[in-house]
Amino acid sequence: MRVDVVTIFGEYLAPLSLSLIGRARAQGLLDLRVHDLREHTRDRHRTVDDTPYGGGAGLLMKPEPWGEALDAVLADPPPADDGRGPVLLVPSPAGEVFTQAAAVELAAEPWLAFACGRYEGIDARVAEHYRARGVRVREVSLGDYVLNGGEVAVLVVVEAVARLLPGVVGNAASLAEESHAAEHDGLLEHPAYTKPASWRGLDVPAVLSSGDHGAVARWRREEALRRTARRRPDLLARLDPARCSGADLRVLAEEGFAPDGAGGFGPAAPAVAH
Ligand code: SAM
Repeated sequence: MRVDVVTIFGEYLAPLSLSLIGRARAQGLLDLRVHDLREHTRDRHRTVDDTPYGGGAGLLMKPEPWGEALDAVLADPPPADDGRGPVLLVPSPAGEVFTQAAAVELAAEPWLAFACGRYEGIDARVAEHYRARGVRVREVSLGDYVLNGGEVAVLVVVEAVARLLPGVVGNAASLAEESHAAEHDGLLEHPAYTKPASWRGLDVPAVLSSGDHGAVARWRREEALRRTARRRPDLLARLDPARCSGADLRVLAEEGFAPDGAGGFGPAAPAVAH
């Protein structure tokens, strides 16, 4: 996969040389290229920002350097480009919230490009212009809070996407067993334990040492359902009742959830007293 990142703070992306992502780059699985937006300015001060029309606090990133920088990225496609160009990811607290499902989609792409905003963000015409040219622009948010710049979002998205590329994580089966994995219906992962069997008075649940694989699988599924119901009930709205066993339905009922009639689960209606 090729990843192009345009930023005024290339140093911010240094962690992408470490650990599994660094190794993936060294092995040629990930070709990450960082471009300095200021290389595409024309004035002596290499200006990338200006005051917003309409007034207000803060500065905005000017469209001209972005246009030149992104045109240069688009003009240099990787051999694997299928003719559609990159998915252009624009980090923004006003974008779609980035999820594991989005990471899976992006991992199937040969080419991603990122435009890292700073200050109060990028002039809105930049995204509009590239959309009009047929570029698949996705404004992505890490969550409902505001960061200083898009570089942290690049670290997050590249790590989440690159670990899904074949060969990046040693044991690919582990990917399917994690929280939010479609293979586990998007549920949170069950609690996990390693040795010793007893630590500070806390014992590992006996079923996990029973050698009974069926019982272990049932316990894990039940714990995943309970954890999700208690911590992230919003995720149950996307849990397909058709993929739930009778045992699953009982666990969810104990946690106060029932099929919502809209393809997921919601709070069970309170029992009517007679
Ligand atoms: N004025 C913008 C707003 O209110 O929507 C916020 C700009 S923020 C201070 C500067 C940059 O940080 C954004 O352009 C974006 O690149 C990045 N950023 C901030 N919060 C983010 C979030 N939750 N997810 C992704 N990127 C974010």
